[in-house]
Amino acid sequence: MSEKVIRLFKLSFKGDSLRVGGEREGSTLYQLKYKVKAREVPVIPNSSWKGVFKRISEEISKGKGMGTALSHDNDDHPKELRGNKEADERVTRILERVRETIDNERNEVNGTQLKGVDIDDEVWTIVRSNVPAAEITWGDLEELTARAVYYYMCPVERLYGSKLFASSISFSDSLVEGNVSFQPHVVLDRTFGAQKEKHLFEEEVVEPSIISLKVVLRPEGDVQLWKYTLRYVEKMGIAVGGSKSRGLGHLTLDVEESKVGEVDGVDVKWDGLTKFLWSKS
Ligand SMILES: [Zn+2]
Repeated sequence: MSEKVIRLFKLSFKGDSLRVGGEREGSTLYQLKYKVKAREVPVIPNSSWKGVFKRISEEISKGKGMGTALSHDNDDHPKELRGNKEADERVTRILERVRETIDNERNEVNGTQLKGVDIDDEVWTIVRSNVPAAEITWGDLEELTARAVYYYMCPVERLYGSKLFASSISFSDSLVEGNVSFQPHVVLDRTFGAQKEKHLFEEEVVEPSIISLKVVLRPEGDVQLWKYTLRYVEKMGIAVGGSKSRGLGHLTLDVEESKVGEVDGVDVKWDGLTKFLWSKS
């Protein structure tokens, strides 16, 4: 299977009630809605999807020690957590090439000068485009290069983007058709020791029919990590929105109804998701 291909995913989810969005008015929590043809329709926004999928991918890539994922922390690779041999060697190699090319021993390098330095490494292209035009210290360049290498070799950043380059996966919004109702909740107030007061709040929830999510995966992304992530979701489901502890928002992936397509010019070759999930490559 060629890895230089753009893949589209049509994922189909089923689930019980959910509430996405935290608009509160008085003692009511509202479900987020978009206006579609003068009608208010509940929605799971792409940012929610990206957030929940990313957290799963982070766990998996750390668990499997993929690339530099072990030092992935809070959307970054802080200095004190680094220590991947392959990555450190790559940093050194790039910086040595820069030293050779610009041929000076000063502690400062000029951003404009660096624009003219060509190194046969994709990471250098990223570093170069993030260097300011003005003078920067050699230390700054070292740090920028190290961050770029660690981000680039981390399957999480490769998929979901980093401070230095864009993401290679995009999620759609999902309009959710289904019954909308208000669920009452009782809160026990223990401020005075005993259960003194009961406050009531209510939550607007939607009971979804089928939820459909479209995903675009560009070739720069880590296909393997995305595959692992979908396998996990197939097995464990995925939780979106608020009040998960009260059992809201748990969705299951309907693999039989889900599809994957490979973009070939203007055509898309569609196939079942199962084959993609369990193929060897
Ligand atoms: Zn990372």
